[in-house]
Amino acid sequence: MRLTERPRRLRRDGLRDLVAETTLRPADLIAPVFVDATADERVPIESMPGHERVPVDEAAARVREITDTGVEAVILFGIPESKDPEGSRGWADDGVVQRATRAVAAETDATVVTDVCLCEYTDHGHCGAIEETAASDPTLTVRNDRTLELLRRTAVSQAEAGADVVAPSSMTDGMVAAIREGLDEAGHEDVAVLSYAAKYESAFYGPFRDAADGAPAFGDRRHYQMDPANGREARREVRLDADQGADVLMVKPAMPYLDVVRQTREAVDRPVAAYQVSGEYAMLHAAADRGLLELDAVALESLLAIRRAGADLILTYFAETVAPRL
Ligand SMILES: [Zn+2]
Repeated sequence: MRLTERPRRLRRDGLRDLVAETTLRPADLIAPVFVDATADERVPIESMPGHERVPVDEAAARVREITDTGVEAVILFGIPESKDPEGSRGWADDGVVQRATRAVAAETDATVVTDVCLCEYTDHGHCGAIEETAASDPTLTVRNDRTLELLRRTAVSQAEAGADVVAPSSMTDGMVAAIREGLDEAGHEDVAVLSYAAKYESAFYGPFRDAADGAPAFGDRRHYQMDPANGREARREVRLDADQGADVLMVKPAMPYLDVVRQTREAVDRPVAAYQVSGEYAMLHAAADRGLLELDAVALESLLAIRRAGADLILTYFAETVAPRL
């Protein structure tokens, strides 16, 4: 038999890289950093090996460790000194993320992305203002339109502190438009909006909630985050955020939602981001700890797969360990 097609020809060393369709560079990655206003020293995060909460005065040092690996961007999450029903430490001038952002902007070359949400700052742990009567009602819905004003304040105060990019993650309807308008009115036309456009109500977020102390005190987030059953609906969410002026559109989580990453890539002509979440990170670590998988190899392959699905940039807890090997 005479074979006319021999794909194996191009898999030889020396040819493989020439025909590689997808690449992964340190500059494609954004590393999450947890800054804790209640900590005096670095505290390891049990469920996320290699990650820690750092005090505000160590935020810049922590970010420098990351940029030393070649990663150029970080996303800051804050654990405030106190919480209240509206999450007012989220937009405080001397809030934990604002202080950390000022330090990181002044002392490093990192591109600073800040997470815009209220769940880390509210005493009930939901991503916005809730009805007072709903304080123990597990079926509550966060007050969408009241929350818009709080998100807008938060984003503007982060921009004032020096954030390059703000990343609204609360799945509040209209959040991108409200934030864009607030930023423009405050003279921050150049601050970009990276929207968590299709964020699912996922069980893969578990370890993050340890890290950022952000579990809801009651109920869950299924009334505002997306149903894992829905793919078409993600198209709508992405379109709405693009129309409202989002500069980058994100899908979260990544690996269980690669179909959504791909359709987002095809639907819009803007950069697409994917968030490889804490549960994705923790499960690869757990499997490696048991000797079932080789950690470095699966970390790299998982990131390459997310890029191949269509993500331009990836938020990942592997950023710092993978970057030096690229
Ligand atoms: Zn939230």
